[in-house]
Amino acid sequence: MKKDIKFGSLCVHDVPHNETTKSHQIPIYATSSFEFESIDQGMAIFTGKESGHVYGRYGNPTIDSVQKKLSQLEVYGLGIEAEGLMMSSGMAAISTMIMSVVKSGEKILSQGNIYGGTSELFLKTFQPLGIETVMTNLKDLDAVEQVLKSDPSIRMVYFETPANPTMACVDIQELAALAKKYGAYSAVDNTFCTPYLQQPLKFGVDFVVHSTTKYLNGHGNSIAGVLIGRDVELMRGKVWQTMKLAGTNCNPWDAWLVNNGTKTLALRMEKHNANAQAIAEFLENHPKVERVNYNGLSSHEDHNLAKKQMKKFGGMLSFELKGGLDAGISFMNKIRFCTLAPTLGDVDTLVLHPASMSHINIPKEIRLRNGITDGLIRLSVGIEEVEDIIFDLENAI
Ligand SMILES: *Cc1c(COP(=O)(O)O)cnc(C)c1O
Repeated sequence: MKKDIKFGSLCVHDVPHNETTKSHQIPIYATSSFEFESIDQGMAIFTGKESGHVYGRYGNPTIDSVQKKLSQLEVYGLGIEAEGLMMSSGMAAISTMIMSVVKSGEKILSQGNIYGGTSELFLKTFQPLGIETVMTNLKDLDAVEQVLKSDPSIRMVYFETPANPTMACVDIQELAALAKKYGAYSAVDNTFCTPYLQQPLKFGVDFVVHSTTKYLNGHGNSIAGVLIGRDVELMRGKVWQTMKLAGTNCNPWDAWLVNNGTKTLALRMEKHNANAQAIAEFLENHPKVERVNYNGLSSHEDHNLAKKQMKKFGGMLSFELKGGLDAGISFMNKIRFCTLAPTLGDVDTLVLHPASMSHINIPKEIRLRNGITDGLIRLSVGIEEVEDIIFDLENAI
């Protein structure tokens, strides 16, 4: 006989929900833990004999679905398997990867122009823990081989291509092969490209990371990241374990927002690309512009390499105004249509003047060494009608 429960108890307990009709969109599982049908099921799941969810930090059905989609996109058409794990940010994806496969006493080999947060992470967090980062010019493959040959403690070669702010590219295939030859992992931050434009796993790398905050979400409304690894066992084992213990897991709401963004990824990337190409050509012919850095221009020094590893050239570009710092600041003050925001990959066009914004606290010599000159403007070209973007740029220049 079923006893009626009291009002206060009814308030506390959930009413069994309707599972007869399937949700069209993936539901957001806003739950920190998962119920077991029985103690036997609980034991089976806890010991890994049965698959299922336990606790939200270990995994969540919403996140499972999104990370699966992201890894499928990353290996699309390659005929290989890969496993993805979403994390709380792009930085969480990078740090979880390093914590999983690089130990104290081992080193990372990287380049000077990676994302600022990543070089700070390497320098300020991992260096004091005994994981040193050796910076070299990764375009110089002979130098890379020399470093790898002379230092067997290098455990990972980590790079971005194209990289901020000059869209300099490095050869994914050559670097992955060199890393492999000397027993190191290779990892690429593919945030600028998304798998629509570039699939590093095709060229032999072990790991791909994304700040999904950028193009994969595309709408600027969530912070999250994903790590995709070719070694499925390593991802399901050591990397998952690091994620759950370090607590770098994603949350279902942000994962859901990324999922929403991926639905229009192909359409958005096409438009980002077409707009950026038109804007790059407009800027290249402008008398007040010194230089344009866009991989889709034949004047870019890595145009051919970009063509080899990218399907198209994406929405990121930078250009140098004649007139240095004053020209840069004046340009930023006159921008009306484009948005001044320190992010990238959103549907609207974003402008950044590194010398007065993101890099204002960095000593000028260091800034210049990485190609960030006083008059340099970075554009994350959006998907608006290109005439409106060009009108705004023309007016501000
Ligand atoms: C933004 C960004 C990151 C960091 O991602 P978060 O989601 O902000 O943690 C890493 N790499 C690149 C290339 C980025 O643009």
